[in-house]
Amino acid sequence: MCGIFGIFGHQEAANITYLGLYALQHRGQESAGIVSSDGKMLHLHKSMGAVADIFKKDVIKTLKGTSAIGHVRYSTTGGSLLKNVQPVMVNYAKGMIAVAHNGNLVNSTELRTVLENKGSIFQSDMDTEIIVHLIARSKLSSFQDRIVEAMEQVSGAYSVVFLNEARMLGIRDPYGFRPLSIGKFQGSYVLASETCSFDLIGAEYVREVEPGEVVLIDKNGLKSFKPFNEVPLAPCIFEFIYFSRPDSIIFGRNVYSVRKRLGAELAKIYPVEADMVIPVPDSGVPAAIGYSEESGIPFEMGLIRNHYVGRTFIEPRQSIRHFGVKIKLNALREVLDGKKVVVVDDSIVRGTTSRKIVKMLKKAGASEVHVRISSPPTRFPCFYGIDTPTRNELIASTHSIEEINKYLTSDSLAYLSVASLVKAVGREKSYCKACFDGKYVVGFSDMPDEPQMALFGN
Ligand code: AMP
Repeated sequence: MCGIFGIFGHQEAANITYLGLYALQHRGQESAGIVSSDGKMLHLHKSMGAVADIFKKDVIKTLKGTSAIGHVRYSTTGGSLLKNVQPVMVNYAKGMIAVAHNGNLVNSTELRTVLENKGSIFQSDMDTEIIVHLIARSKLSSFQDRIVEAMEQVSGAYSVVFLNEARMLGIRDPYGFRPLSIGKFQGSYVLASETCSFDLIGAEYVREVEPGEVVLIDKNGLKSFKPFNEVPLAPCIFEFIYFSRPDSIIFGRNVYSVRKRLGAELAKIYPVEADMVIPVPDSGVPAAIGYSEESGIPFEMGLIRNHYVGRTFIEPRQSIRHFGVKIKLNALREVLDGKKVVVVDDSIVRGTTSRKIVKMLKKAGASEVHVRISSPPTRFPCFYGIDTPTRNELIASTHSIEEINKYLTSDSLAYLSVASLVKAVGREKSYCKACFDGKYVVGFSDMPDEPQMALFGN
């Protein structure tokens, strides 16, 4: 998962991109980068770490010009290393070009081998670098034609922003896996993974970039093309469940409202007698409110989250297991003691977090703990840009719900069904639900055989 942002034709392009990325920080905390254009050349700064730590005033000053694109990264392919930080910027026969990509290409190994056999030398492990090699090899003359020709060769999930000296271009893959929206700020066009970026800078939300749409933005304004063959739509349903910020509008819907409906659906189908509904903060909050409203059971904060936990936490290697989830969450005895509790979270991946939470709630005095998950069991890995472990590490892929309940030591456990998930999200569109039903809409020539990166502890 990653977040991307771009702005064209504004005196404070780099500064605004910094703010845009700041609002997208939840989409990736490993590294961040900005490329700006002053009309003659591109300027780049990228580093490991969080947006606010990387971009200080003196750095932003070096990012000259009136256009910029930026990226926050959470790796799905390529290790968490400086060489893999985006945007990717290159100097080639036709000038300079930079690209920032959210998604995951499924034919990258194959394409990379072909390109390497033709003499390409890669400087990173990222699938995104393949895109610039394809652009550099194109015989077509315009910026947009070269990009479209390159993107016709890649397959998988991509929402991408490109920048050269004089133009910015945004593309969403024909399936529409990842979000990308268009905004307007003081007369300039902005592109962002999520609309919460627009709210921070004060931009007006115009619309989504449509699946398969290319938007070219230059001094003449915005032009739209639809050069790709139409395919069945498959926006990622997990963006609603976990990834996007609740204050964003993605795929035409507000994320907070969708999450509340997921919680309400859970309450209808899996009611339980209890004294309170508590969320696993922050991801479980809107669904827990929905559950509470629908069931009439009071909402309480039984778990308090430390918001300063991140990659910068210095883990005392040997004793980290001992700390476990306590680093991030603490149970409130005052609220929980002697109470029957419904605890709502968005998903279970390996099951380790939920197990620790149940134990923590019982230790704080909860007499019963009923776990409600506002998504179906996660049984299959994602190959379209969400970082999930391999199939046998997904607890729901190897265990029944009853077995998981036993493992969690909870009094009951219930998940939403795929049908009720679709009902709560809305039936008008079809979504990619491969992590729940294993139906992969785009086949892959290179199924990753190595395990993906570990998840953040929750
Ligand atoms: P686990 O201990 O592996 O079961 O972790 C479950 C928790 O991870 C849930 O509370 C989710 O909010 C969170 N989660 C789900 N998907 C992801 C993801 N792709 N990256 C990071 N955290 C996730």
